[in-house]
Amino acid sequence: TKGERLQKLLAHAGVASRRQAEQMILEGQVTVNGEIVTILGTRVQPQDKVAVQGKLITVPAESLVYYVLHKPTGVITSAMDPQGRKTVVDLLREVPQRVYPIGRLDYDTSGLLLLTNDGELAYRLMHPRYGVEKTYRVGIKEKPTDEALNQLRAGVVLEDGKTAPAKVREVSRIGEGLFRFLDITIHEGRNRQVRRMFAKVGYPVASLQRIRFGPLELEPSLSIGKYRALSATEVYKLQ
Ligand code: URA
Repeated sequence: TKGERLQKLLAHAGVASRRQAEQMILEGQVTVNGEIVTILGTRVQPQDKVAVQGKLITVPAESLVYYVLHKPTGVITSAMDPQGRKTVVDLLREVPQRVYPIGRLDYDTSGLLLLTNDGELAYRLMHPRYGVEKTYRVGIKEKPTDEALNQLRAGVVLEDGKTAPAKVREVSRIGEGLFRFLDITIHEGRNRQVRRMFAKVGYPVASLQRIRFGPLELEPSLSIGKYRALSATEVYKLQ
């Protein structure tokens, strides 16, 4: 990892405020592994020995936190947007730790999104090798043919190759003119994959919501835009 900025680490350790810590660094009062460091923003790793006026300081390890968010549409899934649009991280502003989304959902997609500061777990859950299953509830405007459904199940050829077999289940076949809902479970995570798969078989996606990520399901009590901490059991199931 990139480590933490020295002045921030000193502040976290309770040595001084961030401002005062900067002053101490500039005055040559701070050493890293025995060397005086006077450059603000120097990054330090957990194993580095940081001392102030010769006294070694210890930093409490930042605790690992895990949240589930019911992402609304109209919000982007990245920590920052050059266009200044609202991000999922803005929705977790009350969380003191700096958390990152595990994987992505499109701007127009709602549903279950995990956020954490546990980089290792995030990496594993995102890596295609682990094949975490994700289920999406897809709204389309017409009744799909069995042929289209079977194509989705078998794999659809997209610009970036054929998709792996998927599970597809019809949820509702309500009246003419209204959306029909299908649940599709995939274990890949290509960019806009579900939208592209449905478009390819002739049914453009009208609404898209993620309702499951691995062992975790989106519960009805978590309303749109709300989040909560995962329980220890839920974190355990993810590992
Ligand atoms: N597939 C998509 O097309 N969009 C998402 O947000 C997630 C999966």
